[in-house]
Amino acid sequence: MLLDETGRAAPTIFAEMSALAARTGAVNLGQGFPDEDGPRAVLDAAHAALDAGRNQYPPGRGVPELLDAVAEHQRRFYGIDLDPAREVLVTAGATEALAATILALVDDGDEVVTLEPFYDAYGALVGLAGGVHRTVAMHGPEFVVDHDELRAAFSSRTALVVVNDPHNPTGTVLDAATRQLIVDLARQHDAVVVTDEVYEHLLFDGAAHVPLSTLPGAAERTLSISSGGKTFSTTGWKIGWLTGPEHLVSRVLTVKQYLTFVNGSVFQPAIAVGLGLPDEWYRQLAAGLQRKAELLTEGLLAAGFSVAPSRGGYFVVADAAPLGFDDAADLCRRLPELAGVVGVPVSAFCHEEAAAEHASRIRFAFCKRTEVLERAARGLAGLRV
Ligand code: PMP
Ligand code: GLN
Repeated sequence: MLLDETGRAAPTIFAEMSALAARTGAVNLGQGFPDEDGPRAVLDAAHAALDAGRNQYPPGRGVPELLDAVAEHQRRFYGIDLDPAREVLVTAGATEALAATILALVDDGDEVVTLEPFYDAYGALVGLAGGVHRTVAMHGPEFVVDHDELRAAFSSRTALVVVNDPHNPTGTVLDAATRQLIVDLARQHDAVVVTDEVYEHLLFDGAAHVPLSTLPGAAERTLSISSGGKTFSTTGWKIGWLTGPEHLVSRVLTVKQYLTFVNGSVFQPAIAVGLGLPDEWYRQLAAGLQRKAELLTEGLLAAGFSVAPSRGGYFVVADAAPLGFDDAADLCRRLPELAGVVGVPVSAFCHEEAAAEHASRIRFAFCKRTEVLERAARGLAGLRV
């Protein structure tokens, strides 16, 4: 499944698109990573930890100050009470938290429900665990979840539902009724809810993130996953975490200790400093990113794409059909030459059966400097079939 036709490891769509950008010199709005450093205090804390000799294996669950900082962050922003020693686990990015959770909780033939389009790792990890991936379509142009389709995706075999909110690639945020229905269905089918909240602080228009675990009936069956990568512009550090009931966290820890064991001894204390930054810093972060989202959206609209507004995260989806392009996968391969820009076709986040619905859509990342977004907009302005 993870191999190409010749039996070689197929690169992820992100690796492929970043390589295309590097090769052509095009503006890389494909893979989602910022092109500026995050807060100085966080970078300084990593230097200080390195100079203080914190260069050996940290404790298996994470360094105490990060466990405390995660628990305090969940309390400050969401009113969630956690025991940092038992209900928090530090991981090698959100990716390892997802991997260890899925490997720990999914047995052969168990079903895992996600929305579709989905972050690529979900499909791959469910496959590695021997599970069956059931998806619920998010229907364009606004990426709406149909509640009957959501109900139909659950069965007596459902072990997990993995929910990414704010959502990559669509930039949508779930509505309250959909959130509650997911929790209710998980209860009815005795499934564990796994949330991927890596974009929790990147919501626009002053909106506040609502973790699924805060909904009635959710806390006892939810593992919440996040990461410092997006919030502190440190995607290369790979410091993530998972929180939830002790018995679930312990099962994940059992697998995690045989994946990476531990990671990032000097980055863990630095992310702890970031989690303690004042509310105002978090507000500015979201406001700054919203301006970038608006700038890129205006550029895409001016170029003739139709655009589903992004409500949060790093990405906006543009439909190239009004420009006469029906096949976004093909267009994305030619986009460096045609417009000097790299984007990712939304079909890369879909199983084959669902890809057709999103065939003309492209995901663009806007977590870039203003001048870079302006350059991309200028390049896209001349695009026609
Ligand atoms: N989940 C989603 C939805 C993401 O977009 C990403 C990466 N950008 C991850 C997980 C992985 O996060 P990390 O880099 O912390 O492993
Ligand atoms: N999450 C990033 C994105 O969606 C990429 C992470 C990766 O390269 N695996 O672009």
